[in-house]
Amino acid sequence: MKKIQMVDLKGQYLKIKNEVDNSIQNVIENTAFINGNEVQKFRKNLATYLNVKHVITCANGTDALQIALMSLNLEIGDEVIVPAFTYVATAEVIALLNLKPVLVDVDSETFNIDIEEIENAISPKTKAIVPVHLFGQCANMEAIMGIAKKHNLYVIEDNAQAIGANYLMENGEVHKSGTIGDIGCTSFFPSKNLGCFGDGGAIFTNNDELANKLQIIANHGQNKKYYHQKIGVNSRLDTIQAAVLNVKLKELDNYCNARRKAADFYTEKLINIPYLQVPINAENSTHVFHQYTLIVNDGIRDKLKKYLNDNNIPANIYYPMSLNKQEAFKDISRVVGDLDNTENLCDSVLSLPMHTELDDEQLKYICDKILEFV
Ligand SMILES: *Cc1c(COP(=O)(O)O)cnc(C)c1O
Repeated sequence: MKKIQMVDLKGQYLKIKNEVDNSIQNVIENTAFINGNEVQKFRKNLATYLNVKHVITCANGTDALQIALMSLNLEIGDEVIVPAFTYVATAEVIALLNLKPVLVDVDSETFNIDIEEIENAISPKTKAIVPVHLFGQCANMEAIMGIAKKHNLYVIEDNAQAIGANYLMENGEVHKSGTIGDIGCTSFFPSKNLGCFGDGGAIFTNNDELANKLQIIANHGQNKKYYHQKIGVNSRLDTIQAAVLNVKLKELDNYCNARRKAADFYTEKLINIPYLQVPINAENSTHVFHQYTLIVNDGIRDKLKKYLNDNNIPANIYYPMSLNKQEAFKDISRVVGDLDNTENLCDSVLSLPMHTELDDEQLKYICDKILEFV
């Protein structure tokens, strides 16, 4: 059996090696390392894939979120609502811009932001909501857009973990995750569902005015070289990374299917174990399984993790500590309600190996070990 890894980037690369190598080699030959042709091509390709008007590429997913927030003309102390159960980047950029992260609980089944808690979190200072499509499925976007409209708030989707997922609207329309709110943000960190060979990120929107602002902010606040309208940042996607992404974007749907297939295998084998909760699909979203995350009840999560690790099966905890408990956020955030679900999840979640190259032998071995542990 092949060694089991949390992600298998090498195996994935080998399948597209020729095309990727040629693509990278071309960039080197042309020496257009910054904003080269491949970057412009990728912006178009991603816009087409997502069916969105504008794609602005940038250096990483964290920058994408920061630039998105910078485009909204918010004032110091304005509040931005985020789930307490997410990767730190979502809330970090809010704090960095002297805005206040308002931390709310998540749904115990989908792990995504709890809609009722959003309503409870709104104050006169609230300006935006940043839902996170955690582990690969969309938050309840239609409800979130309804609340945002009612209270005149912006919605920035943190789509770093769910690129490729589809969201079904009540009226039957299907939208790609990240294209429903005012702005969507994603990351091309190597282990993400669409990963490059280093850091990369993108911002997408259907709003022409915001697109213009985002573009300017990402490029030193200039709309014309050496003429600076605003204070911006220097955040670019390297041409070499765009060259890799142009090849990998064509595979994204296949990658999503491979992940789904592995997830189905896990779920079929693990669904009847009494102390385990397999992932529950959200109502209006497909799941692209950035992570396959179990809830391990009865306080035996850490024991199961150790047992798997001892049997050469990597298994990780995303995330062991909620944002409200993090030292960095103690004095600068506002917590809404009791965050019970968030706390429970931090103590009970366990993510199994999930990537595009898992084969049945590996999956069977992992499931057998979990069944043995019972
Ligand atoms: C990965 C990730 C980010 C940050 O992306 P980087 O490219 O690492 O900066 C932000 N939010 C979520 C939910 C992520 O998973």
